[in-house]
Amino acid sequence: MWTLVLNCGSSSVKFALLDVRSGAVGLSGLAERLGSGDASARLDLPGGRRSVALPGGTYAEAFAVIAGALDELGVRGDVGAVGHRVVHGGERFSVPALITPEVLDAVRACVPLAPLHNPANIAGIEAARAAFPHLPQVAVFDTAFHQSMPEVAFRYAVPEAWYRQHGVRRYGFHGTSHAFVAAEAAQVLGRPLEDLNLVTAHLGNGCSVCAVAGGRSVDTSMGLTPLEGLVMGTRSGDVDPGLHDFIARQAGLSLSEVTAALNRESGLLGLSGLSNDMRELEEAAARGHAGARLAVEAFVYRLAKQMAGMAVALGRVDALVFTGGIGENSAAVRGAVLARLGVLGAAVDPALNARAVRGESGRISPEGSPPALVINTNEELMIARQTQDVLAGQAQGQGGTA
Ligand code: ADP
Repeated sequence: MWTLVLNCGSSSVKFALLDVRSGAVGLSGLAERLGSGDASARLDLPGGRRSVALPGGTYAEAFAVIAGALDELGVRGDVGAVGHRVVHGGERFSVPALITPEVLDAVRACVPLAPLHNPANIAGIEAARAAFPHLPQVAVFDTAFHQSMPEVAFRYAVPEAWYRQHGVRRYGFHGTSHAFVAAEAAQVLGRPLEDLNLVTAHLGNGCSVCAVAGGRSVDTSMGLTPLEGLVMGTRSGDVDPGLHDFIARQAGLSLSEVTAALNRESGLLGLSGLSNDMRELEEAAARGHAGARLAVEAFVYRLAKQMAGMAVALGRVDALVFTGGIGENSAAVRGAVLARLGVLGAAVDPALNARAVRGESGRISPEGSPPALVINTNEELMIARQTQDVLAGQAQGQGGTA
């Protein structure tokens, strides 16, 4: 039984066809530049890669291409469900949900919290329901995993009415990835997830840290929006909230221009003045580029500080987990972070650390120190699993949507 996993952005759809039991990928790909005259879909099939033009540039056209590929592979009848990545589920969704008109309305109600992402997710869901009308569709939320955070972790010290009337609180993101790598880490450690206190670091273009106690998120570094917390590719992470007013006046910027700059021109890019790409920055730093060196060092420093802070949420740290493009590939970043986390007793084994790149995973700390692990994330597989879990729950008559 296959599950089609869809991640619909405003101008793209990332898709994958997965078999939950074996983890096999039957098909994957990316439709890009939707909404423009020059949209296309890349299909990765068992026989090789192919590119298909999408002259209409719509989701419907992209899904027709996917449906055609399913026919070509002879698996269309074996697809049991569609799982959608949905960015924001607000306080309504603490678990994935079978998509019904009522659930879709609840996702729509979360649009003010994720004005860029949720509308695209909703449009993708509507188009997928039209393209695959016979398949159950499930929404898997980036925020859901973090709904277990206690109030001390999720409330901001701001007027209470902002929380009650406008939902101003910390939600956290990357939940699917944090949940997946926490479960994988338990397997690697050979211990029940329920017994483990983990600090997981998802380090891609967006970056976040999570404190996972017994498989539940108890704190995370992202907040109301994915802008809070760590230094990221182009996002600033934490800044003084007074910065907005100050720079708006000094530089004559509007509030939305300040927000855009904090999202798109800051982080590694802003600090280095060179690039948002960690690999490029590591190379430039090695050549002596001062901005690149500062960007990498600030990234490491802020990350180590956040990871150490998560020890407060957990009380005891059993293992540290690195994932995402940087976490899975940058031995330099991991080594520097672990060196700064000596305060938690952390240490790095340089040979194991150097080996854990390009898909290799496992322990990178020496015997006798708290385990530090590299775990390859697989958000598509987690979405497919959760989709199947929701359907199994429905079959058992549990129903529940939130
Ligand atoms: P996304 O969040 O878009 O899925 P990824 O998880 O692919 O992004 O992470 C992208 C980041 O991973 C980039 O900063 C990239 O430079 C970094 N990265 C990938 N490979 C390496 C590497 N070998 N060394 C250092 N950084 C790497």
